[in-house]
Amino acid sequence: MIPSIDLHDGTRIPQLGFGTYLVDPADAAEVVSAALQAGYRHIDTAQMYGNEAGVGEAIAQSGIPRGDLYVTTKLSTANHAPDDVRRSFEQSLADLQVDYVDLFLMHWPMPNRYGGDFPATWRAMVELVGDGRARSVGVSNFEASHLDRIIAETGVVPVINQIEAHPYFPNDVVRAASRRHGIAVEAWGPLGQGAVLDDPAIARLAAGLGRSPAQVILRWHIERGDIVFPKSSHPERMRQNMELFDFELTAAQTAIIDGLDRGDEGRVGPHPDSFDWIPD
Ligand code: NDP
Repeated sequence: MIPSIDLHDGTRIPQLGFGTYLVDPADAAEVVSAALQAGYRHIDTAQMYGNEAGVGEAIAQSGIPRGDLYVTTKLSTANHAPDDVRRSFEQSLADLQVDYVDLFLMHWPMPNRYGGDFPATWRAMVELVGDGRARSVGVSNFEASHLDRIIAETGVVPVINQIEAHPYFPNDVVRAASRRHGIAVEAWGPLGQGAVLDDPAIARLAAGLGRSPAQVILRWHIERGDIVFPKSSHPERMRQNMELFDFELTAAQTAIIDGLDRGDEGRVGPHPDSFDWIPD
């Protein structure tokens, strides 16, 4: 049984889901169908992944009632102009073959583009909640200063901040800043995009617990209270990554994983203050 997390707008989100970054658009329907068959009911995609249509095909073919699914997509960095927010959101709904998404996130703040006016982008996203087509709106890759700015300028607090977090880069400063505002944290790249899986300390813990390295790392995230959606293209790994709720880490085991923190060096992704890439 996957626990749910209460969000400050009164909705709930499953703490474990399935990620789709680098799932090839041509394979997305098959991969996401396998994830739904494995039991995932929370899917994380994005306009920039180019695979929303495949995700939509899997959802449509699954026969799973829409209300039993939690679907997240994200605004492309190409679509920050308010008119593009609205237009691209319509396209996401069409591609995903849904009447609403559960969560729409601003993928990156892009402080060095669009005149630095990400609060205007946020305001356009917030309007989408009004007519029910986005049940919740949130942000991704927001530093504390970015959160402070949109909240000060619009008065609307995102429900979620989706940020890079894993044992090599726990990102605790931004996690704490998010929580101070009542914002739930989603950890992207929970396995460090694979980088943490081969860590010898993780391997030793996994052997001692009779679990896989991925399970040990994902359990650490769950116990931190963050929301995770590991990606795998292999059905047996999809199933393995869901089996997290029948064991616990001791304080000593948690401390070993906490000790793998490499600070900024541990990042696998870019810094949100400087990231300014826009797809063609
Ligand atoms: P993850 O940390 O989930 O790692 C994925 C990698 O780990 C893949 O190479 C996968 O390989 C491998 N893997 C997964 N499970 C296992 C396992 N049990 N055993 C061995 N290897 C395993 O990285 P992601 O970048 O995919 O992050 C998760 C999700 O977060 C994304 O899919 C996306 O939805 C979101 N995300 C959001 C970002 C943002 O900017 N907001 C940025 C990046 C990600 P294989 O597929 O071959 O099994």
